[in-house]
Amino acid sequence: MFFTGTRSEVKVSSAFAIASGLVSDGGLFVPQEFPRFTPEELGEMVEMDYCRRAEKVLSKYLTDYSAEEIRNCVEGAYKGTFDHDEPAPLSDIGENRRMLELWHGPTCAFKDLALQLLPYLLTTALKKGGDGKEAVILVATSGDTGKAALSGFADVKGTKIVVFYPVDGVSDMQKRQMITQKGGNVSVCAIRGNFDDAQSGVKEIFTDAAMKEFLESGNMSFSSANSINFGRLVPQVVYYVSAYCDMLKDGTLKAGDEFNVVVPTGNFGNILAAVYAKKMGIPIAKFICASNKNNVLTDFIRTGVYDRNRKFYTTESPSMDILISSNLERLLYLLSDGDSGKVAAYMAELKNSGKYAIDSEMLAKLQSEFFGGCCDDESGRGAIADLFRERNYLCDTHTAVAVAVAADYRRETGDERVQLIASTASAYKFAPAVLKALTDRPLPADDFAKLAMLAELTGTEVPAPLANLKGDEVLHKDCVNKEEMAEFIRRKLV
Ligand SMILES: *Cc1c(COP(=O)(O)O)cnc(C)c1O
Repeated sequence: MFFTGTRSEVKVSSAFAIASGLVSDGGLFVPQEFPRFTPEELGEMVEMDYCRRAEKVLSKYLTDYSAEEIRNCVEGAYKGTFDHDEPAPLSDIGENRRMLELWHGPTCAFKDLALQLLPYLLTTALKKGGDGKEAVILVATSGDTGKAALSGFADVKGTKIVVFYPVDGVSDMQKRQMITQKGGNVSVCAIRGNFDDAQSGVKEIFTDAAMKEFLESGNMSFSSANSINFGRLVPQVVYYVSAYCDMLKDGTLKAGDEFNVVVPTGNFGNILAAVYAKKMGIPIAKFICASNKNNVLTDFIRTGVYDRNRKFYTTESPSMDILISSNLERLLYLLSDGDSGKVAAYMAELKNSGKYAIDSEMLAKLQSEFFGGCCDDESGRGAIADLFRERNYLCDTHTAVAVAVAADYRRETGDERVQLIASTASAYKFAPAVLKALTDRPLPADDFAKLAMLAELTGTEVPAPLANLKGDEVLHKDCVNKEEMAEFIRRKLV
């Protein structure tokens, strides 16, 4: 199994792809072809637990890792780190809808499923590479990736991690999680700008020649914990495969029954993992891509025109406040049947004019499998309130976007197939907005009093990782302009 690039042909092992993060021309690593599960393999996986299923999926892609290495990675990542025996349980919320709960990990968002595993995959890859370089993990975050990556990489030998977050673009709880992070190898910095500024800044630093030289002189090299790293995607494929197995096991589906997935989307990593799961033989009919008011993807799916030249909104689902969806590049690669020249041309147009239009053939393929929908904060709050009133089920502001768009999809199409809805964060991470959806009562000023109020109102429990932040000292106070990001990194790495 080898990996190639979205913008040019290369041929590398999975360990190389994971260790380097990004192709040197700025493209993303993608598998040369997709491994498929036989019906027998799927039958066996139904009887396995999450870790064994993860080993199965990983072993199909990471053919240069030994079975023992994969097992060590998986067990290190998922044994004892989640609040639940199964890291990604399903919850039946009625009307043929299942919540795929991805927030039972140490930072209460779905990023944990990949970022608890990535440090193991990466350090194993570095050992194989054998040049003894220290990996510097650069992260741009819209809120959840940052903390999840910090939690995964803190004090991991042979690594340093630097996280940039938009100063006004994350929730209070997300910010608190990051600025209190302990660890000898961690740096956290706010930037004056939005997530796209942080992400493009990180991408530029990645491919900057002077920076590369600086790192080499210190025997270091960059890697990425953002979803541009293939090592982030495989662990996400696992939970779609695992959810399918769970639905076969509990009788929600019979072998061969198709279902739809609904994913609250920003950078397009999570939904792309579902596409990869389908490529491996999981019978997903439709990918329902749910956006908030930053609905660049809804327009793209409906018209074939990707246009980031539009107003950027700060919403109550901040982890989806993104106008440049970097993993879409991997979908373009698939839609064009692996035409890297074409993808490179679209990406150049995006860089130069902020806009590109795919051809009619690609658009037809896109629309045969994808539905794009969006909803604003008010509709999101409506979805939270309805779901709690009707089903006594509490969801966060991101998941709410998916719930609202899932209902729109059914109304518009009459497609009654089972909907697997990715529930991407704990409601407690976004307590003020969730409370606003549930009650008119005035909110207390203190962040932890808000958590207590949500617990009391809903009869649910404050997740321990959030409750435990109380009293943690603020360790990271830097805030820089986008132009100063490289300087910040140099300062932290000497
Ligand atoms: C990151 C994130 C998303 C968006 O996921 P992508 O893979 O970037 O599309 C949605 N919800 C939450 C809570 C997130 O943290």
